Amino acid sequence: MKILSIIFILSVFLLIFFRFRKKRELKKREELPMPEAWKEMLEKHVRYYQKLSPELKVEFQKRVMFFLANVKVIGVKTEVDDLDKILVAAGAIIPIFAFPKWQYSYLEEVLIYPKTFDRDRQFTNKDSKEFISGVVGTGGHLRSVMILSKPALHHGFDIANDKQNVAIHEFLHLLDREDYEVNGVPEILIHHKYSALWMEYIRKNIKMIHENKSDIRSYGGTNPAEFFAVIGEYFFEQPQKLKREHPKLYALLKDMFKQIPLKENPRILPKK
Ligand SMILES: [Zn+2]
Repeated sequence: MKILSIIFILSVFLLIFFRFRKKRELKKREELPMPEAWKEMLEKHVRYYQKLSPELKVEFQKRVMFFLANVKVIGVKTEVDDLDKILVAAGAIIPIFAFPKWQYSYLEEVLIYPKTFDRDRQFTNKDSKEFISGVVGTGGHLRSVMILSKPALHHGFDIANDKQNVAIHEFLHLLDREDYEVNGVPEILIHHKYSALWMEYIRKNIKMIHENKSDIRSYGGTNPAEFFAVIGEYFFEQPQKLKREHPKLYALLKDMFKQIPLKENPRILPKK
């Protein structure tokens, strides 16, 4: 019995030790300044960033540096340059910008493919049946791996008002997955008292998509998880339009993400 207690206490101690060690290490990396060339890339390519106040731009830069210090962006049969990394990091930070302490707990790598791929992760050609531009999969115990097609990654930021951004889409799936269930109800974003209401909105809107009565991208009609990712892309790319067309959805998303995208100060909503 005594030995068991000692083992238990030792395990708790080790757990606490490693947690704190990890935190300290992360904090140090956060202090790395962003190279000037990277700031220019953000300014040139990320519309969301362009709209931020000078103070929030500095905050965004810090968060990008922090993300890239902890998540590897790796090219598979393609080169990865600084702009690719910046765009991946921007896609990660935009949905969680109002939550400074958040990070994607299980993500270690983002793989960049030179083109679209199929579900066997083979590159597609003109005869392929599937053209997947992004996916989040598990890479073993509690690890996530994201794959993004490079042209789709760039397209998402180059065309900033088509309600599509594959990086944001895949990071929204990761947020959804933080509660171990990819079901369109991300528990870290949505208070459980609103979950039923949110599910109700999802059901109604998926029905409208199936009946061709919605301006929400049809892929959102696949299932609740895809609906959440697709409506999130819409929210971050065309918030004003979403507010006009779907005021209730907009209000709930604003509450979930605690921000009003593409607006200058005040950008981040005060905590309730
Ligand atoms: Zn998806």
